[in-house]
Amino acid sequence: MANCYCEYCGIKSTNVSGLTSSSCMRHPNGANRGKHALYQGSEKSQYTCKYCGTRSSSIANLTSSSCMRHPNGANKGHHAPAL
Ligand SMILES: [Zn+2]
Ligand SMILES: [Zn+2]
Repeated sequence: MANCYCEYCGIKSTNVSGLTSSSCMRHPNGANRGKHALYQGSEKSQYTCKYCGTRSSSIANLTSSSCMRHPNGANKGHHAPAL
């Protein structure tokens, strides 16, 4: 079964319904204020932030740091992987 990832925190799962039914530590509304969301893009060797273009080797790495060009304001949110 293909791997799937949460677009907010990069957690890996092989089960989409399991992924999207558990709480996300890095949900944009706050830690555990919502569920993981399925990253719709394909598995890549490098992920690029859709706001600022920062690259990282994993979604977990990318989303662990805050984004200077976040739409809510500089460092008001985390990098988000482009599809
Ligand atoms: Zn998550
Ligand atoms: Zn960014």
